Amino acid sequence: MDCELITIGDELLLGFTIDTNAVHIARTLAELGIRITRRATVGDTPSEIIDAVQAALARTGAVLTTGGLGPTADDRTHESLALAFGRELALHEAGRAALAERWQQRFGRSMPESNVRQFMLPAGAEILTNRHGSAPGIWLEDAHGRFVATMPGVPREMRGLLAEEIVPRLQARAAARGDVPTVVRSRTLRTTGISESACADRLDEFRRAVHDVPLSYLPGLDGVDLRLTLDGVSASEADARLDAAAATVRARVGDWIYGEGEADLAALVLELLRAHGHTIAVAESCTGGLLGGRLTAIPGSSAQVLGGIIAYDNRIKIEQLGVSGALLAEHGAVSEPVARAMATSVRARFGADVGVGITGIAGPSGGSEAKPVGTVWVAVDVAGAVHAVKPVLPGDRGEIRHRATQIALDRLRRVYARSADTPGWTVTAEPASR
Ligand code: AMP
Ligand code: MG
Repeated sequence: MDCELITIGDELLLGFTIDTNAVHIARTLAELGIRITRRATVGDTPSEIIDAVQAALARTGAVLTTGGLGPTADDRTHESLALAFGRELALHEAGRAALAERWQQRFGRSMPESNVRQFMLPAGAEILTNRHGSAPGIWLEDAHGRFVATMPGVPREMRGLLAEEIVPRLQARAAARGDVPTVVRSRTLRTTGISESACADRLDEFRRAVHDVPLSYLPGLDGVDLRLTLDGVSASEADARLDAAAATVRARVGDWIYGEGEADLAALVLELLRAHGHTIAVAESCTGGLLGGRLTAIPGSSAQVLGGIIAYDNRIKIEQLGVSGALLAEHGAVSEPVARAMATSVRARFGADVGVGITGIAGPSGGSEAKPVGTVWVAVDVAGAVHAVKPVLPGDRGEIRHRATQIALDRLRRVYARSADTPGWTVTAEPASR
């Protein structure tokens, strides 16, 4: 079954409010196999609401809205629907009386007059009880079975009304039409350290689909997520086909993939450390504690994470980490010898099995021809074997800093994956994204 979604509110158009309702509704309906074929956002202006609703009714005949149901004069969704359907606005007495009763019970006083306005509804509308707030939604259907269902804008109230009132009605409708129950299912494989185009090359003839399962390339700060999605099929068919497609993607993209779904590289590295009985300490310059923050964000990290030093200034690199002034003077703070010294020193000073050193130029200033903004040296010292890598990372300051932590975690993952056979690779300039 297809439907359209219209989110209503001036604040959405102005960008003051992020349209999280649309996201929640899309995900909820996708689970049920209901496709949203079009999504629109309009302000609290009756002519705009009427236009959007009439166009969606003509196209799809199944329309959901959120917003514009409040008690104040700027909430105009229901009066607009009355006009769109050519119905009178009339007081829904039963609904008003029920809310007035709830007010008495809950607050011990009578309901404010302005709430009565929320029960001025298009004639013939079925009321959708809002158990989480005052504004009711409605289900309004025309003689051809085309309908509009309205929900409040407040996300918590919207979620309640969707689950309790709208989903059951949509499911009953789909069943009455004889729709075979279908689902929309996705499987996400997470990569890091490989570009979107390099992923596509490895998947060569597949590119946008693997075994007829559509594939999306989603580049982000953690790397490129490869998302396989199927819709309009039964749950068992979806799972079987997604399994097969995911296996093919894994075989082709290989060890650039570090996990599935919401997998977090910091959590994965902690698991590897735990499995080897190893502890870790970090020495961070340009990332200023971000790596330590990511590791310690994971519950239970205290068994593996000993601590770290934010060695931002060169004086701190010298005094707290014992990096030699001569080394800094000869190679500069952003250099392989300094990153290696940081990793080795923090490991020794903290008595850890693993040390990490990160030093780089996060920008926006401080870059040069030889060391442009985004140049980062990451070194990992695992039980005395030191490996270093110099990516030149794209993005702004925040992106470069996050990507640097991702590179460090990925290097650790790779050291453990290849166990001992990783003699001092100094890999240079692997693009992290795009
Ligand atoms: P309304 O029902 O239009 O009075 O909306 C009440 C409040 O809900 C607004 O002030 C917004 O903060 C929030 N809201 C409205 N629409 C959305 C939406 N699509 N996504 C997230 N929040 C929303
Ligand atoms: Mg509003």
